[in-house]
Amino acid sequence: MRPFRYQRVPDVSSAVSTLAADPEAAYLAGGTNLVDLMKLEVAVPDLLVDVRGLTSDRIVQHPDFVRIGAAATNSALAADEVVRQRFPVLSQAVLAGASGQLRNLATTGGNLLQRTRCVYFQDINTPCNKREPGTGCSAREGFQREHAVLGASEACIATHPSDMAVALAALDAVVNTEGPAGSRAIPLVDLHRLPGDEPQRDTVLEHGELITSVDVPLLDFATNSRYRKARDRASFAFALVSVAAAVDVADGVVRDVRLALGGVAHKPWRASDAEAALRGAEASAEAFRRAADAELAGARPLPGNEFKVPLARNMIVGVLSELAGVPR
Ligand code: SF4
Repeated sequence: MRPFRYQRVPDVSSAVSTLAADPEAAYLAGGTNLVDLMKLEVAVPDLLVDVRGLTSDRIVQHPDFVRIGAAATNSALAADEVVRQRFPVLSQAVLAGASGQLRNLATTGGNLLQRTRCVYFQDINTPCNKREPGTGCSAREGFQREHAVLGASEACIATHPSDMAVALAALDAVVNTEGPAGSRAIPLVDLHRLPGDEPQRDTVLEHGELITSVDVPLLDFATNSRYRKARDRASFAFALVSVAAAVDVADGVVRDVRLALGGVAHKPWRASDAEAALRGAEASAEAFRRAADAELAGARPLPGNEFKVPLARNMIVGVLSELAGVPR
C-alpha cells in the first residue's frame, strides 16, 4: 500500500473544499471497497478525508419519501422496519450483498460508489481501460463470465457490483449530493454511467461531490416487491444476474410495474422497455416472457457470458409471476 495522509474535517462543506483543492484526494466512509483497492494499488489517493461522521446515519420517513442518510450502514438499512415493510426489495437486496461483517461497516453512499470487481481492473499487471485509460480491455479476450451483456462498449464490458443500487433504481430513488458547484438531486438511474469511451468514469459525480442522502419515494405497490440474485456461491458473491421488481396487479391486469436488473451492465439497468410492455398487459407468464424479450433484445453477450440472457429472462418471468400470483 502506498503512503497516504488521513484527515478529519468538521463538516460537509470543509470536506468538499478539501477534496476540491486536491485532485488526488478521496473520501473515506466505511472503506470496505476503497481500502481493498488501496492494498492492491488500484487506488492510490494521497489523502483520505473521513466523511463517516459528517452525514446522517439515520433513516427517516417523510410524508412522500424515506430519506436514508449516506452514513447509514447497510445493516441498519436492511433491518429498518419502514424499509422492510414499504420496500422489501431494498432490504432483500442489501442482505443479498457482501457478509454480515461488511454490511455492519459499509455505508449507503459508499455502496453506490463501489467499483467493479472485474478481475483485470483489480490486477495492476494487466491492461484495463478503466484503471489506466488507453491500455486496452483484458476482459474482451479473457474471462467474461461476470461481465456485461447490455450497454457495454468496445472500451469496457465491466458490470456494476451493487445489489442495493439495483433495488434503488427500480424504486425511483434520488441521490442528494453536495459538491464544489453546490447541491443537486440526481435520479439514481442517472448516477451511474455506461462506459462509452470513458470507462474510467463510473458515475456523473464531479471530483469532490459527496453523496449526503438517498430519497426513496413511498410508492404504494412497492410493498409487493422482491429481489432475486443468481450467483456462483450461496453468499458473499456478486450477481451474475439479479432482478428487482415491484408489481401492481388488479383484475388480472398489470396496472403498474418497476423492474431493474443487476449483473448485466456497467450500471443498474432499469428495464424500461419491459415496463412499457407490461403496463396494461395481462398478468401472465406469457406476457412476462414477452416483456423480458423486449428488454433483452438489445443484449450483446460474449462467448463467456451468453448464459446471462436466458438466465435474466427466466428470472424476470419467475419474479414477476410470484409477485403477480400467477403460475409460471
Ligand atoms: Fe478494465 Fe472494463 Fe475491461 Fe474489466 S471490462 S478489463 S474494468 S476495461
